[in-house]
Amino acid sequence: MKIFHSEAHRAHDPPFEVFDGGQRVPYLENPDRIDRITAALKKTDWAEFAEPADFGLDPIHAVHDRDYIAFLASCWTEWLASDSAVAASPRDHAFLPATFALRRRPTSISSTLLGRAGYYMMDLSSCIVEATYRASIASAHCALSAAQEAFQNSTNAFGLCRPPGHHAGRDYAGGYCFINNASVAANWLSAKGKVAILDVDYHAGNGTQDIFYERSDVLTISIHGDPDYEYPYYIGFAGETGAGAGLGYHQNYPLPKGTDDAAYLSTLEDALNKIRSFSPQYLVLSIGMDTFEGDPLGRFKVTREGFASIGQGIHDLKLPSAIIMEGGYANAELGENVVLLLENFK
Ligand SMILES: [Zn+2]
Repeated sequence: MKIFHSEAHRAHDPPFEVFDGGQRVPYLENPDRIDRITAALKKTDWAEFAEPADFGLDPIHAVHDRDYIAFLASCWTEWLASDSAVAASPRDHAFLPATFALRRRPTSISSTLLGRAGYYMMDLSSCIVEATYRASIASAHCALSAAQEAFQNSTNAFGLCRPPGHHAGRDYAGGYCFINNASVAANWLSAKGKVAILDVDYHAGNGTQDIFYERSDVLTISIHGDPDYEYPYYIGFAGETGAGAGLGYHQNYPLPKGTDDAAYLSTLEDALNKIRSFSPQYLVLSIGMDTFEGDPLGRFKVTREGFASIGQGIHDLKLPSAIIMEGGYANAELGENVVLLLENFK
């Protein structure tokens, strides 16, 4: 199986993030995650690493707001130019606003850098550093390369994406995500045939939900920790099923704390039956290994055996699949867990 990977992610290494209560903690979505996955994949006899192709910005602009992408491209340089203390020690800093747009739809967006940041960011976990924009574009190109492989060769491919993408919406960053890699890949594939996106990351795929919410040609399904107790809190409830032409083409499966393999797999079966009824030609699969029982950010109890069964169940759809890396923060087990899920698709 082709594994699309770019080293551009490595320099996206924010010095901290801000947790609830204002605690500064080391950035959990770190380059070590990808090193662990790469090391585990290299031990197999089926992983074939490849550089992503350069798709330019067009397929990214097809999903994201142009002004938002322009903001991601320039905000770091603008910040350094506006603050001499930051410019003196840029590696100690991460760009974050302290004021957010909430639910407002202003008649115009503030021209100030921090005003735009609060408009285009939804939380304090998407820390921007010098390399963030470049890493995000390369990450989207890994996803697009996997989609191209699924289309051209009717096969499965893995976009080893970092930063992840499923919390990023059309015009906002959040949850370590800047460009919604899975959505960019799915939108590109949707010009070739019907697409289903299945998101099995522990957290609700709010960005993906938002992007396709009014579309009927891309079915979106997310299985995740109930937003009643879990991030992103404000989206991912069972009653959100699409709107307009997209009504009935989105499904959330919010699950309780402590969800184990058996409960997870029974929910997955329901989701897979929905996908079968939709009869897509392609699958975009957002994988997050933070459903793992040992994950520091998750509260599910999925085991190693669980990941193998999840992979097997999804593979039984027998659809050409672009598999996209999202979250997973138990770094010591992350690589093996990814391999356990992926080896069904080799
Ligand atoms: Zn997650």
